[in-house]
Amino acid sequence: MIVFDLKCSREHVFEAWFDSSSAFETQKAQGFVECPICGCREITKAVMAPAVPAKGNQQPSDADRKEQLRRLAAYQAEVESRCDYVGTSFVSEARARAGKPESKAGEATRGIIGEASISDAMALVSEGIEIAPLPFRIRQKADA
Ligand SMILES: [Zn+2]
Repeated sequence: MIVFDLKCSREHVFEAWFDSSSAFETQKAQGFVECPICGCREITKAVMAPAVPAKGNQQPSDADRKEQLRRLAAYQAEVESRCDYVGTSFVSEARARAGKPESKAGEATRGIIGEASISDAMALVSEGIEIAPLPFRIRQKADA
């Protein structure tokens, strides 16, 4: 069942339930749909009122967007500074690293970032290798 806001030729707006959009068209064509106020049968679908977002659920302002971009850029810079870009050898690199024992204490471990197809990424996850999608496009390094 769907509800339509309907309007008669005299601008009376009312709600009516129908099995489907086509059921409304059929019933209207057969003259079964009439205005409950004036009995008029020249019925059209009223234009739906646009949804008004609830308070607290409003579109982010330009300032919010800029702040989000700034944070994303900072996060990207941090990830890029702590990880080595391995490009499309990401999957094999990730597997090779997973097979190694934990690094010795004090040894700085660098992460890797690179590219993997969705299916390769899923395979890594199913092998218990921790990976995470990055919320940004990797800047291609010239030497990669
Ligand atoms: Zn009417």
